[in-house]
Order: sequence, then structure tokens, then C-alpha cells
Amino acid sequence: MAIIPCGSTWVAQLGIRPQSSIRAYIPNRTITAHSGVTSRISYLGAPSSSLFSHDSLRLLSFVASSQTSHRRRSSRLIVRADSDFYSVLGVSRNASKSEIKSAYRKLARSYHPDVNKDPGAEQKFKDISNAYEVLSDDEKRSLYDKYGEAGLKGAGMGMGDYSNPFDLFESLFEGMGGMGGMGMGGRSSRSRAVDGQDEYYSLVLNFKEAVFGVEKEIEITRLESCGTCNGSGAKPGTKPSKCSTCGGQGQVVSSARTPLGVFQQVMTCSSCGGTGEISTPCNTCSGDGRVRRTKRISLKVPAGVDSGSRLRVRSEGNAGRRGGSPGDLFVIIDVIPDPVLKRDDTNILYTCKVSYIDAILGTTIKVPTVDGMVDLKIPAGTQPNTTLVMAKKGVPVLNKSNMRGDQLVRVQVEIPKRLSSEEKKLIEELADLSKSKTASSRR
Ligand SMILES: [Zn+2]
Ligand SMILES: [Zn+2]
Repeated sequence: MAIIPCGSTWVAQLGIRPQSSIRAYIPNRTITAHSGVTSRISYLGAPSSSLFSHDSLRLLSFVASSQTSHRRRSSRLIVRADSDFYSVLGVSRNASKSEIKSAYRKLARSYHPDVNKDPGAEQKFKDISNAYEVLSDDEKRSLYDKYGEAGLKGAGMGMGDYSNPFDLFESLFEGMGGMGGMGMGGRSSRSRAVDGQDEYYSLVLNFKEAVFGVEKEIEITRLESCGTCNGSGAKPGTKPSKCSTCGGQGQVVSSARTPLGVFQQVMTCSSCGGTGEISTPCNTCSGDGRVRRTKRISLKVPAGVDSGSRLRVRSEGNAGRRGGSPGDLFVIIDVIPDPVLKRDDTNILYTCKVSYIDAILGTTIKVPTVDGMVDLKIPAGTQPNTTLVMAKKGVPVLNKSNMRGDQLVRVQVEIPKRLSSEEKKLIEELADLSKSKTASSRR
């Protein structure tokens, strides 16, 4: 525990566990670490401020339930110039995870809108959070390194499609006395509402479905708000009674006497979980307020997805508790390979075989492509292992379906192992011809 001077009074700076907050007790005066600011934090954490762009919504269209359409209405479009995430955090491209984390911590502390009142601070804070969210995740970082922000969109993580930057901030400072120590509101104001967890669904596509996109009806099982008790968890017709452990406060206080005064630690009441009330549990959901249900969702998979692509369907994850927001649904794509066409990002690789005669004289062959059989001209004098490019016969670029990769055809030249006597005779004649040609050119 560290005691830091703060004007003429003392404020305790303590390691705060997620569900507790600290109060320093000075005779006749109690300074609460989470004063006033809490309402602001919870306002910013409300769904109305959730960040996601219409772009990411376009990626996925889905049967919107009433709750998702509500969230869609309240979303707003984030317009900003492409910024390099590394320079936003002021780190080099090969910065280690801990360098990235400490750069984020430093910047987030100085740009948090509760500390920094400059007009641009909030936007800067969000930019820092976005950059950190991508660079701190190995998968997102490698996509970003390879393809920039477009790569993140491809993986269902569109620009602006980030977590709430304030949640991210709190999660990182939690347990360090971060918010409390900085004189800001802690999580306790929202301890009653618990956000729902994300749900995952594995979707297997055949090769062409992944290339051209497909509409799929999927059946997911997730926790939904209980209809019997309207999500409250209390048996209908019963009235919740005041928790006797905490007297309805939802918190219990323990005190410790130190040479600097009495310090009180406020903990969430374990009897009522911080609600201050004890209710008769609902028979349908056993008091959880949620029940496991199956739902069919029609999912539009965009053209160009590949194994490992993740599609995010907003708010179709598990329901939250006591008014918490629902989680998201992540659809993880797995693509069945094609026996002849191999995929290399947006290109398709194919190997064809032609006879040595066709390689010498040139010919036209039929080649399988994702568009069906297509004629390919093998030019006269084609060398073994030449790669011929069939332009725009590859995979559409994710979210840019008017752009396509190519099909790359490697030509294998077949040399016969056995020749008929007639063939052998002709080849020998050819050899003689070739010898005399060489001899004459030497002369
Ligand atoms: Zn219920
Ligand atoms: Zn209680």
C-alpha cells in the first residue's frame, strides 16, 4: 500500500481487486476513491457509445432481432484517416508485447478524457486504444502487418469494430489500483450488470462457397434472457427482500487501523452478489435470469473468406445479466480444400501436364478454374515449369468483390519413357538434323 500526498489530505493508493474499492478514512471526512466520475464512466460504457462502423455491418447481414436493430440505430460511423498503429503508440514495427503494453499504458493515462480536457484528447484516447487492441493480439497484429487495416476487416474485425476503449482501459488497469489510484471511478458502479459472453460457431464451407461467398442458415445455441422472469432471475410474483448481510448496500466494509488513520476496504457483498437484495429464484432459469436456447440465424458469408476467417455478428452472443449487454457471435470459417485447385490467398495454383511435342509446337488445353473449364493457350516453345497466368481467374478480394486474384498454371512437360520404333526413328532423324545444324553453325 502506498500513501501519496494529495493537497492537504491523504489518499490511499492500494491494489484494488476487480470487485472492491478503497476508501481512506480521515476523521469526520471520508474520501471515496470513486467519486462522482462513476456516472460518466458508465455513460460512456453504454451501448449508445459503442464503436462500430457501417462498413463492418455491411460485411455481415443477419436477421436482426429487436435488440440488434436497436443497437444498429444507435451506432455511428467513424470516419478517420488511415493511421499507422505503430506510430500511434510510438513504437517500432518489431516492438515486443511488453513494449507495446507499456507504451499504451503511458499514453492512455495521459489522454484519458477524465484526466486530459483537451478537445482532441478523447479521439486520441480512442485511437490509442484501437491501436493497442490490434497490436496486443498476435492474430490481429499479423493480419495488420500483412494487409493493414483492410486485413482486419477481412477477418471480420472492421475498422471501428473494436471493444469499448474504456473497458479496455479498465481491464488493463484493474488490479493495479489504476482507476482508483488515479482518483477515477472504478468498476463498482457497474458490478450489478454483467455483460454476456461471446459465442463461437464453427462453419465449414466448400471451396467454391468460400471463393464466391454464400448465404447460410446456421443454428446457434446461446443464453437468452429468461421469458418467465424477464431476465431478473426472481420468481414472478415474489418480492425481493433486503439482503441481511449487507443491509441492502451490496457492499461490506472492513477496517484496518494504521498509524496514518483508519483505512476501510469496501468489498462486494458475497451473499447477494452486490445487488443488495435476496430473491426467490425463478423456476425456469434457477435464478440466473437466462436460459439456453437455440436460434436460427441467416448469415451472409462474403466472397473471399478462407480457413481461419472470423465473422462477427454483433449482439448475437450470450445475453448479459441484470441489464448487461449481450456478447457477440463469432463465426469461424473452415474451408474444405479442393482436390485439384490449391488456394494461395487470392490466387489459385494449378499444375497442368503437356507432352514435349505440345510444349515445342504449342497447343490449347482445357483447364479447370473456379469458373468452370477454360481454354488455356500453351505457347510454342514453352519451357518445363513455366508458370502461365490466367488473369482474374482467382479468388475475389474480400470486401472488394470486383477485384480478383489470378490462376497460376505451372506447366509440367512430359517426356515419354518408351517410344515406338517409328517414333524412335523420327527422333533419331531429328537428332541427326540437330547435329548437322550444330556442325554447320561451327563452320
Ligand atoms: Zn427466469
Ligand atoms: Zn448483501
